[in-house]
Amino acid sequence: MRGFTGQVFPIDKPGNYEDSDLSKTRPELVSAADILNTYARNKFGKGLKVNGGWRSAAHNAEVNGTKTSHHLSGHALDIDASSLSEAELADLQAFAKQIGLNADGDNMYHDKGTGYHMHITLPEGYYLKSVDLGNGKFLTP
Ligand SMILES: [Zn+2]
Repeated sequence: MRGFTGQVFPIDKPGNYEDSDLSKTRPELVSAADILNTYARNKFGKGLKVNGGWRSAAHNAEVNGTKTSHHLSGHALDIDASSLSEAELADLQAFAKQIGLNADGDNMYHDKGTGYHMHITLPEGYYLKSVDLGNGKFLTP
């Protein structure tokens, strides 16, 4: 893999969403968001931010989430990637697939729920793949 040149930059977590501290969202997904943010910072000079994780059934219904949404079990996380160009977004999504996200087929960018956003999933039984940080170190989630 490619794209990392040094430290991991934690993604911006403004906390203005239901699971504000992401304690009900799978920790490996939060790590994945940090990895994607690091990739975007290093490659495009642009940062990403979280805009949602675990959802209650009531909130999921409010935002028109599907009844089988991975958000209900804390296996999905939404990211605001609106600062990226279409080409940068396509690059980021290809990288996200390389590290094992959305392996069970959820669309990675869509306008369901909270407007256009990146929707990453890591369902039960799926795991992140190691990432080469580019400095001789590997990040093993
Ligand atoms: Zn989502």
